Amino acid sequence: MKEMEKYDYLIVGSGLYGATFAYFAKRKGKNCLVIDKRPHVGGNVYCEQIEGINVHKYGAHIFHTSDKKVWDFVNTIVSFNRYTNSPIARYKDRLYNLPFNMNTFYQLWGVTTPEQAIERINMQRREALAEMGITDVASFSPANLEEQALSLVGRDVYEVLIKGYTEKQWGRPCRELPPFIIMRLPLRMTFDNNYFNDSYQGIPIGGYNKLIDGLLDGVECKTSCDFFTVYRDNWRDVAQKLVYTGPVDQYFDFRLGRLDWRTVYFKHYVKNIPNYQGNAVVNYTDVEVPYTRVIEHKHFEMFGPDVDKCPKTVVSEEYPAEYSEGMEPFYPVNNIRNNKLAEAYQQMSRQEDDVLFGGRLGCYKYYDMAPVIGQVMQLWAGDSEP
Ligand code: UDP
Repeated sequence: MKEMEKYDYLIVGSGLYGATFAYFAKRKGKNCLVIDKRPHVGGNVYCEQIEGINVHKYGAHIFHTSDKKVWDFVNTIVSFNRYTNSPIARYKDRLYNLPFNMNTFYQLWGVTTPEQAIERINMQRREALAEMGITDVASFSPANLEEQALSLVGRDVYEVLIKGYTEKQWGRPCRELPPFIIMRLPLRMTFDNNYFNDSYQGIPIGGYNKLIDGLLDGVECKTSCDFFTVYRDNWRDVAQKLVYTGPVDQYFDFRLGRLDWRTVYFKHYVKNIPNYQGNAVVNYTDVEVPYTRVIEHKHFEMFGPDVDKCPKTVVSEEYPAEYSEGMEPFYPVNNIRNNKLAEAYQQMSRQEDDVLFGGRLGCYKYYDMAPVIGQVMQLWAGDSEP
């Protein structure tokens, strides 16, 4: 780039929002500079190769969507494999299929037909609602995650598969969490262990770095570069517009207060066996086990005989923790206090000239990967220029 010539966009953060933005901007002839404070690009989808296995360093990512435009788009960058997420839940010494489906109900109660399962669940729902003192079932609207879960699936599923996992993950009692978190989980009366209802899902063949590298192909990137120490005060000298995907409260110097985040950290192990747990994801749903899940990364990309052809395996235990400064924010905590505070920051965001806020951290929203890509595609659709 010539001296004194400005970039069209300075993009802070090279996760999916930033990388997709850079991709479309470049196609429209825009000059972008992407910066990331980490020593690598890709945000939380970044993978590290260990023993020939792509290890999801910042937690398991499974791409899923029903948006054909998004699916077709990502497949132009890299082809996706046929991975279907079907996690196993382990409660004490027993295993259960997820999401909640006929296999789970058979394992819990021995019921073998949808009719029996529905009868059982309805009975448990009625009992739970009665315990809560609810008589007018039709107009009942759950006030928190516990009420939501009990009224949806009843006491057994709640106690065995939801309560412990959720309280570990969020570090708060289910009664203090918003109902919507659990709405991500399907409830099915078929023997279908596919965790998602979406039309399309998979993992990029060769790993997520292929997706990120494809999106950022030909785009100038600076890693180990912290916006707040390098560009905070002078970004307008460098670029016309700013695309900011960091934490929204940090952008405003925490002026209104700090948003709460939930974080997770990982303990990674290399095992000298080809197959440790037989599945990519095993959730530990009882409170006694300190981690929420164990990920065995090879199962995202190796199937059938390929599993044993790779003699070692890498597993990661996932430990949730409360966020404090210096940690990585992973999940917004969408309770009433934080939603109000986030809304106030969002109002401030809308008033920032020439700045676009995006992604989980920039919007304080529990976004999945595909909607983030969809949002950026929308921004650049037709002749528009964000
Ligand atoms: N959840 C649960 N039991 C499980 C898995 C998930 O109760 O075995 C609940 C939990 O409240 C969690 C939410 O469902 O926060 C969403 O889980 P998901 O696996 O979709 O979350 P992510 O993969 O984004 O961490």
